[in-house]
Amino acid sequence: MSKSLQAHRLNMQAFAQDGAPLVETTLLQNMERLAQEAHGLEPDSAVQWQASGELRGREGTEPEVWLHLQGKTTIPLTCQRCMGAVATPLEMDQWYRFVASEDIAMAEDDQSEEDLLVMEPQFDLLALLEDELLMALPLVPMHEQCPVAPRLSVGEDGIAGVAAEKPNPFAVLARLKQKK
Ligand SMILES: [Zn+2]
Repeated sequence: MSKSLQAHRLNMQAFAQDGAPLVETTLLQNMERLAQEAHGLEPDSAVQWQASGELRGREGTEPEVWLHLQGKTTIPLTCQRCMGAVATPLEMDQWYRFVASEDIAMAEDDQSEEDLLVMEPQFDLLALLEDELLMALPLVPMHEQCPVAPRLSVGEDGIAGVAAEKPNPFAVLARLKQKK
């Protein structure tokens, strides 16, 4: 089984027991939801990620499965000022603890610094990574300084300048809708 297939259906218990980390590169085009956000994706754009599991025992109880997931990439997004591509670094670094049920996750979530996940026989690590990177997307991607100066005609500097500073409200709204 290839590593990427394995990461879609990971036996977390065995992964944590084993302790060997997964260090992988996944092409962005294989993360469909994230790729949809991209403004012209290079075929070799990829996410570098690393996952390690561990068992942590508490006295008198079954050891718990913990997961440390880190990922980073650079994705071209659409600048909401000039509509050009803006290379945007994305990064995530999170600890998770697996619990037996949704009820336990709900009950313990408030008092836990780590994120809680419900244990499944085959855990989709890549879907989790993609979720986290989607959440790391900026709400309004924008160049610090747009490479293309807004077209100004003489005498209209003031008005055109102000208009160019504002993000396109419809594009912003579309992004907000996608976030839900
Ligand atoms: Zn721009």
